[in-house]
Amino acid sequence: MTTNNSNLSAEDRDKLVANMRKEEQQRQSGYREQALKLFPHVCGRCSRDFEGKKISELTVHHIDHNHDNNPANGANWELLCIYCHDHEHTRGVQESRLESTTDSAPKSAPLSHSPFAALATKIKAK
Ligand SMILES: [Zn+2]
Ligand SMILES: [Zn+2]
Repeated sequence: MTTNNSNLSAEDRDKLVANMRKEEQQRQSGYREQALKLFPHVCGRCSRDFEGKKISELTVHHIDHNHDNNPANGANWELLCIYCHDHEHTRGVQESRLESTTDSAPKSAPLSHSPFAALATKIKAK
């Protein structure tokens, strides 16, 4: 079983990645919708109003940079426009790198959030 299956495992991996992407997207739209219900549709940085068509330019930022930390009361969310959100993450290159790795991180990694949070506070403290 182990000899001829290397091609198949690559295909499986593709499927798995596609699946995780999908789940991640569903998760994101889930908390985005919640955040949009909770907060006024205004960027938390530049205070621009994104009511109506432009709502797609308003994104949910995770204050502790942990995308798995989604309390229903919105305590970890901040609505930022795509420009301010970008700025928020480019302040520390490490932060955006952490954010892109959460895409491929396995779902069952409950330990990963504490070092992430610690790192984020370290970067913010600078
Ligand atoms: Zn903004
Ligand atoms: Zn963010």
